[in-house]
Amino acid sequence: MAKIVPQPGISEIALYQGGASQIEGVQNVVKLSSNENPFGPSPKAIDALRKAAHTLHRYPSTDHLPLRRAIAETFDLWSDNIICGVGSDEIISLLCYGYAGSGDEVLYTEHGFSMYKISALAAGATPVVVAEKNRVVDVNAILERAGTKTKLVFLTNPGNPTGTMIPESDIRRLADGLPPQCLLVVDGAYIDYVEGCDGGAKLTHAYDNLFVTRTFSKLYGLGGLRVGWGYGPKYIVDTLNRLRGPFNLSGPALAAAEAAVLDREYAEKCRLDNARLRTWLAGALAEHGVSSDTSMTNFILARFGSQPEAEACDDYLKTQGILVRRVAGYGLPQCLRITIGDEASCRRVAHAVGQFKAGKR
Ligand SMILES: *Cc1c(COP(=O)(O)O)cnc(C)c1O
Repeated sequence: MAKIVPQPGISEIALYQGGASQIEGVQNVVKLSSNENPFGPSPKAIDALRKAAHTLHRYPSTDHLPLRRAIAETFDLWSDNIICGVGSDEIISLLCYGYAGSGDEVLYTEHGFSMYKISALAAGATPVVVAEKNRVVDVNAILERAGTKTKLVFLTNPGNPTGTMIPESDIRRLADGLPPQCLLVVDGAYIDYVEGCDGGAKLTHAYDNLFVTRTFSKLYGLGGLRVGWGYGPKYIVDTLNRLRGPFNLSGPALAAAEAAVLDREYAEKCRLDNARLRTWLAGALAEHGVSSDTSMTNFILARFGSQPEAEACDDYLKTQGILVRRVAGYGLPQCLRITIGDEASCRRVAHAVGQFKAGKR
């Protein structure tokens, strides 16, 4: 019998590879492969989630107003310009369906997040990769490549898996210089780790072609609940809301995210702990001859001499019960991405890398 054929582009999608969470036969595994908050979410978020168990028979809100108000209050933004999604992954997907189709190009950078390509292909658009310069987004290269077919440009800032960041002046330069039909999307999954920086959110008040995405999965420790949000011009938010499922976010997820974003003290504590442990881990790795760019995020991109060395180190770490992330799929075969865990995990991974480099394996 003839097979039913899907829309063009869909068969080209390579399935997303998540960070591993288990090692066969090893107990007490330290998971440093998915950039999760090692301390989990605010206790207030867990409380809110428990309380939400009493209203599971009710449909959730469709406009997410309490969560949007809480986000707006915390970050001093406009609640009308916020859209909430099932992780920022959903916002990325809605942007692609809303603004790119057959014949359109979706640009992202060399070491960019794999969801941009997946969502572009799903929408029938053509994904286009632009080179970075020494693991940093190259604004000039993007401006040179963007043309009349370019509908979307995705940047991760700070970058994953690079951990590097471009300044707001560069985001402005992009928004000013891109072709008029093109929307610039700045993915701020890690911006909560950067003190005093909103990743361009307020800049969207002055630009019709700038949009940012944010998430509860990283600093806020709610990756398992799937809550993200987008921020930008109201006319873009209106478009995405037409595409969004009315009940995309569950009541418990909305309640937990609202409590999490309002607990500023907890978020600040996590940010400071991460910064302290990140400095320590980068120093410890450097002492073992493993260099890294200064990270603005909750992970370190550890650079080894070669792909075989990086892979051998990853294999050794596994024997020690430590999971980190290989990033060859992101064009960085000689690197391993290591999430900043709690203090014990940081010490454990630093020690194990030291043992590996000393040849004790
Ligand atoms: C983790 C991450 C996200 C967050 O995705 P969610 O769907 O919100 O969990 C988005 N972009 C990048 C680059 C990430 O690393």
